[in-house]
Formats: sequence, structure tokens, C-alpha cells
Amino acid sequence: MKEVDSLALANVQLNQEKAFRDYFKNPKHFGMPKFKKKKDKQSYTTKNQILPNGNETIRVDFEEGFIYLPKIKEGIKAVLHRGFEGRIKSVTVVKTKSGRYYVSILVEVQDPRNEIKEPSNLVCGIDLGLQHFATIANDVGVFKVEYPKYLIKAEKRLKRLQRQLSRKEKGSRNREKAIKRLAREHEHVKNSREDFLHKLSKAIIDDNQVVVVEDLNIKGLARTKFAKYILDSSWSKFLDYLCYKAKWYNRLLVVAERTFPSSKVCSRCGHYYVGLKLWERVWECPVCGSVHDRDENAAKNLRGYGAVLIKEIG
Ligand SMILES: [Zn+2]
Repeated sequence: MKEVDSLALANVQLNQEKAFRDYFKNPKHFGMPKFKKKKDKQSYTTKNQILPNGNETIRVDFEEGFIYLPKIKEGIKAVLHRGFEGRIKSVTVVKTKSGRYYVSILVEVQDPRNEIKEPSNLVCGIDLGLQHFATIANDVGVFKVEYPKYLIKAEKRLKRLQRQLSRKEKGSRNREKAIKRLAREHEHVKNSREDFLHKLSKAIIDDNQVVVVEDLNIKGLARTKFAKYILDSSWSKFLDYLCYKAKWYNRLLVVAERTFPSSKVCSRCGHYYVGLKLWERVWECPVCGSVHDRDENAAKNLRGYGAVLIKEIG
């Protein structure tokens, strides 16, 4: 027991106590605590402490790229993804299923957020689609954001690895190897996808005071299986990110009502074109003659929806 960081052990005990307490209070909801398997994700959390001599038990050396944790005097060489300021509160060390180690560090700072920027744009509407991940209409014009090609490739690779794994014999060395490879690829795809979604949502929130999106449930029609598999998770995650970032940075996120026909209304004259088919990517308004790109038109309408709303609420 002496080899192990005592705070890490104490945390495990606290977690375990809580797990049992929850279980006895509400066994239907929480279930009996289970043993972690060695193969699963492993982690521990430990707190930073100030020693009587003023030193802290957890330190990060940004110049040399080292992390110092309790009981590991020689430090751990690490890739430090970004710098931070403030006092370290605690760290969590994780070993993922693919066998990689990550450390996440919780710090206390004066101002928990970055400075809020003045938005350059008032309202934007976002249409989420298959051909382009997002079509965005703002006060100036319309532009499209592609779902990154490397992500589509990576996700196809992931599918292939999954198939390969299913052909490996249970309990074999090769199966073990395939599991590791799959887990590694999975992590990579997840990280890259989240990186893309974070950057895009942050840029949109920085730029706009009001952001209008549509309800995702009406998107369910024209998808192939593969696209559905990729995009379902990305779209909903993207909206989650927009939602909490809007709160952080004092922006307004509007979800258009489900009944709002963002695609079928002409964004120029307001004609409701009932006959628009799902496969029609471009259409001409029978009343005013405007030719619309389906996604751009939808984005413009969503923007209009937001503009009306803010006029109403002042
Ligand atoms: Zn029209």
C-alpha cells in the first residue's frame, strides 16, 4: 500500500462508499457496484497539496515537458497539449482501452472563461446537411462548411477494423491485437471529430449574437445508413456544444419549432412550395422565379426566423 499515492486510495474509497450508498438508497437505478476489469479504462484521481515547506505535491514543468505526481519523484515525460495558469487542484490519470495514458489537470483560475468577444454578426441560421456538414447564413451572405474528408476516411477505416475484429477467433492473440488497434482508432476518430466540432461551434458563437438551428428530429428522412451513423452523433454533439458555449459567452441559441418549414419556403418571397421533393437540391420558386440551393435557402429561412424572433422580444 505504501507504493501507492495515499490520496488516490482515499478517493477510491470515497467513490466506493458513494457507489454503495447510492445502491442501497435506490438499487433499481444505480445497481450493485462492479469490479473493474483490467482490460477496461483505468483511472485514478489525486489532489494537489501544499507541503509545509511551500512546495506542491503536483507540478507541471512546461519547458521540459514533465509532470510530477505524488510518489513519482522522477516525473513523467508527457506531451503537454496546452499551457494553463492558476493553481492545480487535482489530476486524473487515465489509461484508455488502447493502452495510452492521459492526464487531465483541474486548475483554479480567477476568471473561468476567456474574454467575451463582441460578435461581428447579429443573427445567423444554420442548416445541417449531408452534402455539407453545415450551411450558414449570416448578415453578409451564405457559406458552407464541409465535414472534413479525413474524418470520413477515418470513420470508414474504423468500420473496416470492426469487421476485421469480428472475424478473429475468440481468445486468440490476434484478436487481442485487433481489439487494441480498434480502440486506438476509435480514440483517434473521437478526438478528431470533437476537435472539429469544438472549433466550428466556437467560431460560430464568437461571430454571432443569435444562432438559429433546426430541430434535429425532422432531419431523419433522407439518410443512408452510413451517413446516419456518422452524422447523428456529430449533429447532436454539435448542437450540445453550441448550446453550452452560447451560455458561456452570453449568446442566444434558438431552436426553430418543429413545424417550421425551413426548406420549403422561398426565402425571397415567402411562397410555401409544398411540392418540394427530398431529392431536389436546387429548385425554382414558382411565384418569384428565384432559383434556390436547398441548403442555402433553409439556412436563410432559419436566419429569418431568428430575426423575427428578436424583433418580437426586442
Ligand atoms: Zn419566391
